[in-house]
Amino acid sequence: MLAPEKRPDLPASLTAALLRGAKGQCPRCGEARLFRAFLKPVDHCPSCHQDWTKQRADDFPPYISIFITGHIMAGPIIYFGAESPIPLWIATAICLVMAAALMLALLQPAKGGTVALQWWHGMHGFVPSGHDEAAGAARPAGEGPWS
Ligand SMILES: [Zn+2]
Repeated sequence: MLAPEKRPDLPASLTAALLRGAKGQCPRCGEARLFRAFLKPVDHCPSCHQDWTKQRADDFPPYISIFITGHIMAGPIIYFGAESPIPLWIATAICLVMAAALMLALLQPAKGGTVALQWWHGMHGFVPSGHDEAAGAARPAGEGPWS
C-alpha cells in the first residue's frame, strides 16, 4: 500500500468522501461514477476497483431526503397556509409538487453520501475502511469497528 501522501486520489477527510458520494462520484477515487442507475451503485469502481456491493444504505437515504425536504418546505407551507391570497387547493398542489421534486432531487445525493459514510467508517465489510486507508493504517479483515 502506498503511503497516504502518495495517494492523492483518496479523500483527506470524511467531508471530502461525503461530497464525492453526494455528487455521484466514487467516494474512494472521485474519478468514476458511483451509480449505474438512479439509485443503483456500480458493483466495482472502473477506476480504482473498489467493491461497492458491500454497501447497505437501506432506508437511510430516503430518511435523509424526507427530513431535509420537510425542513425546507416548512416555510412555504406556513406562508401558503397563513398569508397567501391564492386558494388553498392551489397552494396545496404547489406544495405537493415542490416537495416531491425536492425529495427526488435529494435522494441520489443522500444515497451517495450514505455509501461514502459506510465506506469511510468500514461498515458492512468495507475493509480497510476509507479512514484507515486514507491514514495509511489498514486493519486486517474482522477488526473494523462494525465488522
Ligand atoms: Zn473509484
